[in-house]
Amino acid sequence: MPKPVSNEVSSKLEALKQKFLDKAVVECDALDAIAQSITDAEACYEQLEQAYRILHRLAGSAGTFGFSALGEEARRLEVQLKPFLDGDSQTSPVLPSDISPELSQRLSGLRGLLRLADTAEPQTKSNFPTARVEQLILVVDPDPGRATQLTSGLSLYGYRFSWLPSVKEWQQRPENVPSALIIRDDVFLASGGECAELFPGLPIICLGAADSYPRRYALAREGAEAFFCDPLNLPLLADHLERLLTDHADAESGRVLIVDDDPELREHYRLVLTNGGLEVETVTGDPARLLSVLSAFRPDIVLMDVQMGEIAGPALARMLRFEPEWLSLPIVYLSAEQDREIQLEALAKGGDDFLTKPVSDSFLLRTAKIRCYRAKQLDKLVSRDSLTGLLKHSLVKTEILKEHARCQRLKHQSAVAMLDLDHFKQVNDNQGHRAGDLVIKGLANLLRHRLRKTDIIGRYGGEEFIVALPECSLKRAVTVLESVCEDFAKITFEGNSGEFHVTLSVGLTTLSAYASSEEAIEAADQALYGRKRAGRNGVTTAS
Ligand code: GH3
Ligand code: MG
Ligand code: MG
Repeated sequence: MPKPVSNEVSSKLEALKQKFLDKAVVECDALDAIAQSITDAEACYEQLEQAYRILHRLAGSAGTFGFSALGEEARRLEVQLKPFLDGDSQTSPVLPSDISPELSQRLSGLRGLLRLADTAEPQTKSNFPTARVEQLILVVDPDPGRATQLTSGLSLYGYRFSWLPSVKEWQQRPENVPSALIIRDDVFLASGGECAELFPGLPIICLGAADSYPRRYALAREGAEAFFCDPLNLPLLADHLERLLTDHADAESGRVLIVDDDPELREHYRLVLTNGGLEVETVTGDPARLLSVLSAFRPDIVLMDVQMGEIAGPALARMLRFEPEWLSLPIVYLSAEQDREIQLEALAKGGDDFLTKPVSDSFLLRTAKIRCYRAKQLDKLVSRDSLTGLLKHSLVKTEILKEHARCQRLKHQSAVAMLDLDHFKQVNDNQGHRAGDLVIKGLANLLRHRLRKTDIIGRYGGEEFIVALPECSLKRAVTVLESVCEDFAKITFEGNSGEFHVTLSVGLTTLSAYASSEEAIEAADQALYGRKRAGRNGVTTAS
């Protein structure tokens, strides 16, 4: 649900604006003094350079804090001053006498622009959609019996539900912010846009008794994202729901590293992006610290200032590319630089895009989200299995290896398990390969919902999965995985010969009890075979 900027955030933004103002007053005083020495023909190269640095900073930040007029004038003066600084620094006087008076006057005039704050609040009152953490599904159906049937079938996949007979009953409470809406198609159409208004941006799935293209078109036009016709194929619906939710979560979340030497701007960006549901870390241009923060934080994208005192953003970007690990990390320059040539040069050195400061808060948030989303989609193509969205074989092995190393280092206990579907060859033979695929996806979704965010889940092979549960005792792991087995066995699938159920065998062991992660995986595999011999459907731990 979109929410306005909280009081706390807006007072923090206000405090930053004040800090900016305090600094800007000092800077305008300095510019005024320089203007004076220009008039007296005493200005030296160093002073003009100082003026340029101040102008560059104001051009990049004033707009963000609500002083657009100041920012724009600073930018014009910056551009005007630049050619004289690019020339031979030894020549004196640096400014031709015909332009000095006007320049001097305009430099002194900047101070007055500080009183000219934007009438509209500096973009901070816009609505920022917040990230959804809970996977609460809102079901709207006038028929309580039908709704119960739906929710009990889908709850096996690990969703939470809230039921309403009609949209009118909806009351926004902080604890019931839904992640998706499942609604009867006639109720949805009759609500006449009310749903879109009540739940902006929420994925909507319609269910209906009759199917036709005109009806599907009407639903799509009103903003529905999917339609399922009675009798419901629950596994198919669950799979679609999962896809919508993951996609939506990906579009609303992300990790952003901000590299900027201006403390107020850095903090302002951080507040704006955090308030919009993104995770943010900030650093100055210090190269050593940047690399350590990158490794620890692992951002989806980097927003980088171009000029940070002695440090140049493009050189920093190029340095990052020395490490193969960061070769494909998107770097977006956020800079007051408007010269297209310089922008292109910076991009050639290893950046991906250029945003010209000042950027509005909502634009920054939208851009950051889109960039994070794309980065995640790309990462998925590379590292995720296309059928299930789980980690691919080689990647999950690497992750488990890392977790094993963490166990050794931090002396905590973690569990690792191999999972294999029972008699799956028969499932394919009797129900068809497509139904088989849905079973595989069903288990993947169940695991995703049941396990913690920090757990490692991978598709190890065809119908084989592997999971690692960090900081989890063997006893606790048995309980969790037994309940996964139980719930999975209850899911009703549909195939060529009607409804069917599938069971699951699990071999489990303590990851940290072995000298290497390979040995632990081998032991879990042995336990899995033990389970198969002992009659399948359940969990066996390594002896
Ligand atoms: P067991 O209980 O002993 O594990 O028997 P099983 O039949 O499950 O074992 P087996 O390894 O003989 O068969 C696995 C089957 O899984 C064979 C293969 O066609 C099927 N399979 C593997 N990958 C996929 C997939 O992506 N989709 C579908 N539908 N089937 C798959
Ligand atoms: Mg099998
Ligand atoms: Mg197998």
